[in-house]
Amino acid sequence: MNDLKKLNPVNLNNKERVKEFLERYDYILCDCDGVLWLSNNAVPGVAKTLNRLRELGKKIIFATNNSTKTREEFMNKLRRLGYIAYMDELFPTSYSTAVYLNSIGFDGQAYVIGCSGISKELAKFGIESEGVGLEPTPDDWIPGYADIEDYNYEINAVIVGFDNQISFPKLVKACSYVKKPNCKFIAANADETFPPPNDKVMVPGPGAYIAAIEAVTKKKAINMGKPYKFFFECIKHVHKDIDNKRTIMIGDRLTTDMVFGRNNGISTLFVQSGLGTYEEMINYKNSNKPEDRVCVPDYYLPNKTTEKDEGKFLERTGEKILEKDKEKNLKKEEENNSKDDSDFAK
Ligand SMILES: [Mg+2]
Repeated sequence: MNDLKKLNPVNLNNKERVKEFLERYDYILCDCDGVLWLSNNAVPGVAKTLNRLRELGKKIIFATNNSTKTREEFMNKLRRLGYIAYMDELFPTSYSTAVYLNSIGFDGQAYVIGCSGISKELAKFGIESEGVGLEPTPDDWIPGYADIEDYNYEINAVIVGFDNQISFPKLVKACSYVKKPNCKFIAANADETFPPPNDKVMVPGPGAYIAAIEAVTKKKAINMGKPYKFFFECIKHVHKDIDNKRTIMIGDRLTTDMVFGRNNGISTLFVQSGLGTYEEMINYKNSNKPEDRVCVPDYYLPNKTTEKDEGKFLERTGEKILEKDKEKNLKKEEENNSKDDSDFAK
């Protein structure tokens, strides 16, 4: 807790700090919603920056609590928006959920409140599921009446992710299955809110319906996403060379992305292109509560009023440094290549 008291986020607002930042990390874990894109639009400047970072040999991982799509679908979206992306870099919680159930030798079927990303990832591991899609409240359901005519006795896991077709019958089913003694109750995404289209709107996230199911059943969901440790284990299982000390999590949500870093001994960079604000960050920094202090990042990019300039600042500064390092790396590579050739000749 002593370390947490000393936390003072570093503003990445000058060349020296950016240079130090670039030298310190090998793995960059990147949140997606609110960092790489807002809805279906790329956040300006980020694709170019990330793509250039790869040229320096940085490894990029896309770590998102978004479970609406499969890994392939996320990869396609990233590519469409100008990002370089490969399958083994993709970690949506639709995938971590399927990996988890597979790792415990899950035997049964799953009920999904969520989108097809979850059911498709489950199917890849041979796990059958149902629940995705529209299920409106029947007209004859008067208050207090809710009968499940198609109750499936094979259901042994309830998985909850973002579902914009959430309905009363779905909640009835989820609660009824979760109530079964051995039924797994899994949060593929427990974010309370989704990044809104504008500041007049609040978009409830799956955390809202998870809280409802927990309140009814008195059972706690197991969380497959950030800020929890299983998610990082899932990434490390694929990328075995990750050194926590040389890894940074970039995110827009202080209560998940930054806490994820803290929980897993990795550094954090807070960007304000999505949900979180500078004011929130300062409130967490000035709080004495340990649960607030874990939301404080190690680094941040400056506030929204100068966001465009600052995004470009990182890009410009990064580019100059990258150009120099690229030249150095090329020289090194040439030297190594000639060395390799001579080794081979032996
Ligand atoms: Mg986000």
